[in-house]
Amino acid sequence: MTRLRDQLEALRLRYDTDAALGLDPITVALAYDDPRDREVAAWLAASLAYGRVAPMLTAIRVALAPLGANPAAFLRGQSEKAIRVALGKALKEWRWRFHIGADVVEWLLAWKRLDAGEGLESAFLPKGEESADVALSRLVQRLRVELPGTYGLRFSLPDPLEGSACKRFRMFLRWMAREGWPDLGLWKRYPKAALVIPVDTHVARIARFVRLSTRATPDGRMAEEITAALRRCDPEDPLKYDFALSHLGILGDCPGVKRRPGCLPCPLYAACRAGR
Ligand code: SF4
Repeated sequence: MTRLRDQLEALRLRYDTDAALGLDPITVALAYDDPRDREVAAWLAASLAYGRVAPMLTAIRVALAPLGANPAAFLRGQSEKAIRVALGKALKEWRWRFHIGADVVEWLLAWKRLDAGEGLESAFLPKGEESADVALSRLVQRLRVELPGTYGLRFSLPDPLEGSACKRFRMFLRWMAREGWPDLGLWKRYPKAALVIPVDTHVARIARFVRLSTRATPDGRMAEEITAALRRCDPEDPLKYDFALSHLGILGDCPGVKRRPGCLPCPLYAACRAGR
């Protein structure tokens, strides 16, 4: 495990760069200065973070533009009715794959309702002895009742207790609770050691290559399996390797078959079983 930890650490340092960050939706949140504005941007960006990266980033920025330079103040300072009118008009033609402009309006109004003056941390916090996943499931079930049942909003509300990997919720939680680069670290009470890796196709593939998981399907059980392996490398901060694992794939640096010389700069070369 020490050897794998060293390899993962080398991989983490390789992608600890602004160039890697430029293709990640967290850049949308990092463009704001105020912590609550970052949270609003992250809340929306994470829910829309699927599909091709470049058009996805454009779609998120266009969706946030009508809220101005201070999205949290925009949402806090107006009634739901006024927000519906203003954003409904501005986002009438907006689309991103499964999501339409009306979904964005409802998602932002959900932030306003959950905000309680201190952001969303309380809404995600486990109560008493319950697990972080039970707390997430409780919130998802609440939002499924409160929000319209459109295809886009249903797609935004997977439940971890139903077996979903919940990639976009996991990513949002990592951004908000984790303090190391490149995450926002805005939530101080959320249990960081309970964070679960947001599994996308890149993470799933590379995790199989280096045997962080043996599962074929990128579901909730795979996410738990990979996270358990990463916890053995760093029990307090298991997700510090997530950004590098995903960007090895996102940036096209992993050919999917272990071969020389293309793979030789990869710090996971010795552990990798790709193509075997
Ligand atoms: S050694 Fe090659 S195939 Fe294996 S993870 Fe690294 S880049 Fe991908």
